[in-house]
Amino acid sequence: MLPDIFMDPVFRIGIGFVLGAVGGSFLNVCITRIPLGRSVISPPSSCPNCQRPISWSRNIPILTWLSTSGDATCCKYKIPLRYFIIELSAALLFAFLFYRCSSVDEWGLLLCSIFFTSTILAVIAIDFETMMIPDRFSMGGALVGLSFSFFFPVLHGFSLEPVLAERTAALFTGVTGLLISSSLLYWVGALGERLMNKEALGQGDVKLLGLVGVFCGWEGGLFVIFGGALLGTALLLPIMLWGSLSKKKTDQDGNEFGWGVEVPFGPFLGAASLLYFLGFRKAVDTWFEEIITNFIHFFSIV
Ligand SMILES: [Zn+2]
Repeated sequence: MLPDIFMDPVFRIGIGFVLGAVGGSFLNVCITRIPLGRSVISPPSSCPNCQRPISWSRNIPILTWLSTSGDATCCKYKIPLRYFIIELSAALLFAFLFYRCSSVDEWGLLLCSIFFTSTILAVIAIDFETMMIPDRFSMGGALVGLSFSFFFPVLHGFSLEPVLAERTAALFTGVTGLLISSSLLYWVGALGERLMNKEALGQGDVKLLGLVGVFCGWEGGLFVIFGGALLGTALLLPIMLWGSLSKKKTDQDGNEFGWGVEVPFGPFLGAASLLYFLGFRKAVDTWFEEIITNFIHFFSIV
């Protein structure tokens, strides 16, 4: 039995915040090293620039960046703002997830939620910085999600003490979510490519939607495709307009590059999936249920 203190929401928020800050610190290591193909375990915390080790007192999540405003002590390196943003975002996310986990029995759901939101956070940062989504996050995350579906069917709204039939149904929800979400985005992208005559979507986005579908089901996948496109349009339209007015940059081969020419879609898909997973799930699912019920009702009359 966990002590009564865990029943206190303030205590849970505090624990979540601290664990999230530490988790965010590790996520930063993953975000920096995985795209470069380097190990995330060794060497331990080191300066991204001069590789010198960082002592624990200089490696306190959130606080170190705030107190030094990003100036490394080992060399002249300026630690990117991203380190601070990821640590703070993970701390706030975990605080919210721990707050929501009001019963000890819900630890399975908490585990799934921590895994999904952390993976999405890393994907957002990596795609933003490198314009690609590593397979180990999208495909690897989807595989983990499928096993989570079987072992913790509560992820898909099944009871806390599931029988085998519920486990199978949850796994089925994950698989259909993966297939429907990723193939739908694939076709949206293919259509966009035809209309605009240039590549509209990357393979990485399609695989990312597979991961989203496993954790959020097909309803979540649909929401994320259209929500992500909406978010992207709302935020990018001003940038695109500004970009087309300002002088275009070209590389040595004469190709245009930079934001406004090529824009990563992953961060917007990721943001939409966090919105769904953390808040809109119930409303969106009810909405889809109503549509389907009305649809069936309509055809049963006809
Ligand atoms: Zn350094």
